[in-house]
Amino acid sequence: MAEDKFGGQQILYLPDGATRLLGRDAQRTNIAVGVAVANAVKSALGPKGMDKMLVSDLGDITITNDGATILQEMNVEHPVAKIMVDIAKTQDKEAGDGTTTVVVLAGELLRGAGELLEQGVHPTTIIKGYKIAAEKSAEFLTHISKEIDPKDDAILQKIAMVSMGSKNIGDDKTKEYLSKLVINAVKQVMDKDPRGKIIIDHDLIKIEKKVGGSIADTQFISGVLIDKEIAHPGMPKSIKSAKIALLDVALEIEKTETDAKIEITSPEQMQAFLRQEEQMLKDMVEKIKNSKANIIITQKGIDDVAQHFLAKAGIIAVRRVKKSDMEKLSKATSGKIVTSLDDLNEEDLGFAGMVEEKKIAGEQMVFVEDCKNPKSVSIFIRGGTQHVVDEAERSLTDVIGAISSVVEDNKYVLGGGATEVDLAIELRKYSNDIGGREQLAIQKFADALEIIPKTLSESAGMDAIDTLVQLRNKHRTADGNTYGVDIYKNIIGDMQKLGVFEPIRVKKQAIYSASEASEIILRIDDMISSKSKGGGGMPPGGMPPGMD
Ligand code: ADP
Ligand code: MG
Repeated sequence: MAEDKFGGQQILYLPDGATRLLGRDAQRTNIAVGVAVANAVKSALGPKGMDKMLVSDLGDITITNDGATILQEMNVEHPVAKIMVDIAKTQDKEAGDGTTTVVVLAGELLRGAGELLEQGVHPTTIIKGYKIAAEKSAEFLTHISKEIDPKDDAILQKIAMVSMGSKNIGDDKTKEYLSKLVINAVKQVMDKDPRGKIIIDHDLIKIEKKVGGSIADTQFISGVLIDKEIAHPGMPKSIKSAKIALLDVALEIEKTETDAKIEITSPEQMQAFLRQEEQMLKDMVEKIKNSKANIIITQKGIDDVAQHFLAKAGIIAVRRVKKSDMEKLSKATSGKIVTSLDDLNEEDLGFAGMVEEKKIAGEQMVFVEDCKNPKSVSIFIRGGTQHVVDEAERSLTDVIGAISSVVEDNKYVLGGGATEVDLAIELRKYSNDIGGREQLAIQKFADALEIIPKTLSESAGMDAIDTLVQLRNKHRTADGNTYGVDIYKNIIGDMQKLGVFEPIRVKKQAIYSASEASEIILRIDDMISSKSKGGGGMPPGGMPPGMD
C-alpha cells in the first residue's frame, strides 16, 4: 500500500481485491456486527436462557449455555466480532463469570451508540459519555454492594447457586451439592498475600472429568488426581500413609548422544555390560529406598528394570506426569520436587493419607488423597454423557471464579436485573447534572444496562417492557431497590429475600469491558481489509457467517 499526496488530498493506493470502508459506513457495519454477535448469545442469558448447540467443522458437538464457549466455538472471522469474543475471554479471566452478560451489554451499548450517531452526535462525544457512565457505575456499584463474611457459607452457597443457575447440569439438590464442593475447594486453597489480603489461585483447584456414573458422583479430593496408571503391575495398588518422592529425574541409563560404539567381543563382556547397567538402576532404586519413600512420582521415564526393582521393594511408581501436576502434587503433599537422586532426603518427601489406583470408566487413574491441609485440591467430575461432563466443567469453573472473587473482594450485589435497574436510575439522575451532549450518551448507557432485566424477563416468557416499567416504578419507592425479575414466578420479586446474589466483580468487570469494547469499536472510522474474500477480511454486508 502506498500513500501519496495529490492536490493536498491524501490518496491511498490499495492492492487488488482490498476493500475499504470509511467514516459512517465503517461505523454502521461495525455496530451491526457487534449487535449481531450479542444477539447470537442473548437467548442464553440467565437460568431460563436456552442452550446452544454448536457443531465444529470436524463434526464435534458442544451443547452449552456459556457465553464465552458459544463465541469461541462460533469461529467468528470479522475483526469486530473478534473483539466481542475477546471481552468474553477477559471477563472469564478477570471475574470467572458473567461472560454472556458482558457481550449482551456491549451489543446494547453499540446499538445505543448507533442511534446517537444517526442523530448526529459525534463518536468522540459518545465515547466520552460512555466513559463517564462506566466510571460512575463502578462507583455506584461499590456504594450499593453489601459486605460478606468469607466464613458465611450460607451466602457463598447462594452465590454459587446463582452462578450455576443457568447451566443444565442437574436439579437443585445436585447443584447444592456441587456448590458445597466448590466452596470447600476454594477455602482449602485460600491464601494471604504479604499484606494480609486474601488471594485465591484458581490453578490450585484441579478439575478432572470422566464420563460415567452420574453428576452426583462428582467428588472433592483433598489432593491431586493424576490421569496416569501405576507403572508396573507388580507394584501395590494402594498405599496408606504414603511418603511420596516427587522427582524431576529419569530412572533410566542415559544413552550417549553420539553413536559411540561399544566393542563387545564375547558373551561374557555382554553380560558384564548388562550387569553394570542393572547395577546402576539398582543403585538408583536404593537411593529411593534410603529416603524412606514408598511412592515415587516422576515427570520423566522409568526403565523397565528399575520398575522391577521398585516393585520388588513394594514401592509404587508413576511416571511421565505433567509438570503442572507435579507442581500441584508439591502443593498438596508439601513435598519438594527433587532434580537429582543424590539430593533426595526424607524431609523432601510429600505426605498423603492414601495413594490408590482406581479403575474409572475403563481407565486407570491415580488418586493422591487425604493430604493434610493440602494447598492444592481436585474436583473429579462424573456424569452420564460427555456433554453433561463438559457443561459441568464449564459451570464449576464459573462457580470457582464467582466464589473466589467474592471471597477476595468480600462484596456482593443483587442479581435478577435489580442492580442494573438501580444503576440506570442513578445514571439518569446524574446525567441531568452534566450539560451538553455527553448527557445523551450517559442516558443511552443507562438504557443499555436495562437490557439485562429485559432479557431475563423475556427468557422467562414475560413481557419485557411491562416488567421493566414495573421494576423502574418499584425502585423509586422507599425500599423497592432490591427488586428484580423473579424468573421462576414470572413476576418482579425481592432479590434480597430470594437470595439472588452475585459477586460485585462480575458486574464491575462486565460494565468496564463492555464499555471499553464499544469505545474501541466506535473509534474506528476506517477499515481497510487486504482480502476481498475468505477468512480475516470483512464479509460484504458486514455480517459474520452464521449469525442472525
Ligand atoms: P453469564 O454468562 O453472564 O453469567 P448467566 O447465564 O449465568 O450469564 O446469567 C446470569 C444472569 O442471570 C445474571 O444477570 C443473574 O442475575 C441472572 N440470574 C441468575 N439466577 C437468577 C435467579 N434465580 N433469578 C433471577 N435472575 C437470575
Ligand atoms: Mg453465569
